[in-house]
Amino acid sequence: MRRLLPYFLFLSTIAGPTFCDGLPAKEPVDLLVRGGTVVTMDAEFRVIDDGALAVKDGKLAAVGKSTDLTSRFEAQRTLDADGAIIMPGLINAHGHAAMSLFRGLADDRALMDWLRNYIFPAEAKFVDEAFVRAGTKLALLEMALGGTTTYVDMYYFEDAVADETAKAGLRGVLGQTLIDFPAPDFKTWDAMTAATDAYLAKWKGHRLIVPALAPHAPYTVSPEHLQEVKQLSDKHGAPILLHVAETKQEIKDVREKYQATPVVHLDKLGLLCPRLIAKHVVWATDDELLLLKKHNVGVAHCPQSNMKLASGIAPVPKMLELKLAVGLGTDGPASNNDLDMWEEIDTAAKLHKVATGDPTVLSAREALAMATIEGARAIHLAERIGSLEVGKEADFILVGSNAPHQIPLYDVYSQLAYATKASDVRTVVVAGKVIVADRRPATLDPEAIRSDAARYRDQIRTLLAK
Ligand SMILES: [Zn+2]
Repeated sequence: MRRLLPYFLFLSTIAGPTFCDGLPAKEPVDLLVRGGTVVTMDAEFRVIDDGALAVKDGKLAAVGKSTDLTSRFEAQRTLDADGAIIMPGLINAHGHAAMSLFRGLADDRALMDWLRNYIFPAEAKFVDEAFVRAGTKLALLEMALGGTTTYVDMYYFEDAVADETAKAGLRGVLGQTLIDFPAPDFKTWDAMTAATDAYLAKWKGHRLIVPALAPHAPYTVSPEHLQEVKQLSDKHGAPILLHVAETKQEIKDVREKYQATPVVHLDKLGLLCPRLIAKHVVWATDDELLLLKKHNVGVAHCPQSNMKLASGIAPVPKMLELKLAVGLGTDGPASNNDLDMWEEIDTAAKLHKVATGDPTVLSAREALAMATIEGARAIHLAERIGSLEVGKEADFILVGSNAPHQIPLYDVYSQLAYATKASDVRTVVVAGKVIVADRRPATLDPEAIRSDAARYRDQIRTLLAK
């Protein structure tokens, strides 16, 4: 063997794979994470004890046993998971990130009172691009530290939201708001659509950002304008984000105005399509759910927001029975009041049990799936994210599993859905890039974000007191 070695080495220079003492050389990768329990959320729901991930060019190159991947790959950087759970990053399917600066401003009110008497006037007074950047950064910091790697946003100055999100290294489906009254960023419908057209063109094809259209709701955007939104969506292949059937009041208002429920109204206008992500869908009949399924509409279920605003309980067990794609969302921090997806998972699982009187409804695994792979389906990105599978984007988190509230471990899904807290998330990776390392944010400046939030709080409090 020793005699043949120079010959092998010579061959290796011309024949590709290198050999040393008869062993194939290791394949180079950018990152190897080993020594954790890998919860894949793939089609077989594989869980790999002492598992590992290999990452190359921001994508998953391998998912398997630590011993196997360590022998196959030579990594530029290796992370020891040290017994943590390695799982897909969480997907927040609905929110308004910059509203984090309104957190706790006017709680315990009805949605329409809250919107018309507090939020819309406060937005008219305070929301400009600088506010949106500061609020978005605060939300990004909270989401990153809690293990959310992808979020869906509807707000104003969405180009600035996209810019801050890309800089922070999170993934976002980011919708520019279109609404039938003067908004903080654009005062007329024509200005809104022109800017949205340019925004969609600017961010199309970005690795982290999916630019989207966000008409506010069927009761704040006219039928003609909703059809214009659909045309722009068709032109750019961009998702449409829309609040749908959130409250009983909305059903009443839309029925009075258009002689149809919101879902039927949207169907008539041609808005139901596989690019639509419908938020809330609390008040929908079985026939309407079938209509949503027929058009492959994704649904964002926001249990805590629906509870806090007393909007109602969405028929989620029925949606799952019909195999609708349902994700979980926090909604804006002013109606929740945080962006903690672990709480949404826990709340969703429990809310539907008490609502149906059936403790077998919405299992821990199903609830966790709604924040990962089913959430990815709901936002039409399941080809790229939502599970740990070779070829998908390397969006994953390391979750400590040794805190007193997490032990002993019998069932990993039960522990993740019912016992894990956002503060258990240790490390967060998006597209192969470490954005939180051992609870330290790598791309955001917590001190600057805190001081901006305090400054806005003082300004808002002073002006509202006048
Ligand atoms: Zn909302």
